[in-house]
Amino acid sequence: MIIALKQGISRAEAEALVASLEKQGVAVDFSEGAAQIVLGLVGDTTAINDEALRANHLVENVIRVQEPYKRANRKFHPADTILEMPGADGKKVSIGGASFAVIAGPCSVESREQITSVARSVKKAGAAFLRGGAFKPRTSPYSFQGMGCQGLDLMLEARKETGLPIVTELMEISQLELFEEVDVIQVGARNMQNFALLKELGRSRKPILLKRGLASTLTELLMAAEYIMAGGNEKIVLCERGIRGFDNFARNTLDLALIPALKRKSHLPVIVDPSHATGLAWMVPAMSKAAIAAGADGLIVEVHNDPEHALCDGEQSITPEVFASLMESLHKYAALEGKSI
Ligand code: PEP
Ligand code: MN
Repeated sequence: MIIALKQGISRAEAEALVASLEKQGVAVDFSEGAAQIVLGLVGDTTAINDEALRANHLVENVIRVQEPYKRANRKFHPADTILEMPGADGKKVSIGGASFAVIAGPCSVESREQITSVARSVKKAGAAFLRGGAFKPRTSPYSFQGMGCQGLDLMLEARKETGLPIVTELMEISQLELFEEVDVIQVGARNMQNFALLKELGRSRKPILLKRGLASTLTELLMAAEYIMAGGNEKIVLCERGIRGFDNFARNTLDLALIPALKRKSHLPVIVDPSHATGLAWMVPAMSKAAIAAGADGLIVEVHNDPEHALCDGEQSITPEVFASLMESLHKYAALEGKSI
């Protein structure tokens, strides 16, 4: 961090500021130019409050040279983070590194028949994880809100039958105790900056799938991950799920450029949700392939056995048949990127 002081500040005033900065645990490089004193802060500046410094009457400008996220930063952790857990049929599944992980299932759990049927189909087609929401964040309070605890139980039943680890969304802290058996906890786009929730998940040791907020920047996404990591939970998967753009030909704008940017800035695995990103089932295969080419570590895809009658997100859900043929073609694309499904 570099702090340029205002012109005309005396050496004594500058030294008083240096002393207060040193008390915060950083070393300060003092440089006195012809017109201005410039301070260079060396060491861990993550806890330095740059807003307070900007408000200081001695300070002209503050420039952060390093990113404000430390634990999520590739600079401090060059190797890719790889999450590993038991999968179906006694095999291990992983997200990150050389594997391309496909998470598939309905937007919401609707019935035992629906979730078990979709779970069987996606497993057969090669998905490594089953998705399905029990608690749903819906824009309208009059829309289907999810089956709640009963939905979670049905997800666990589907896991028992297929062996697929399950991914499901947690909407509030009070639900955490219900998620003990869940393999991966999803934090939805709308909760990406629910800091109380992120802190609580930092105390958990479960893998977290963190979705990008509807209008969040790359830094905000990584700072949300940092909240969880600061609590000691480093098992995080980032997810690009489309952001608000100016055009509405699709539900959202899939920000493919975020993927290489995140991979460069952070060691955390990055997956793509082509379903919420587009809102249209027919676009899902093309965007899935694009995600692989952009360097993603996996996908989370909505698959429904009867999209026309789905209680949530039918228009963006692909059928088990389309999913099976998509999976077949994805092997080739993944291989080109040095990954295997
Ligand atoms: C979901 O995956 O079911 C979901 C609600 O996604 P998002 O939070 O990205 O809108
Ligand atoms: Mn959905």
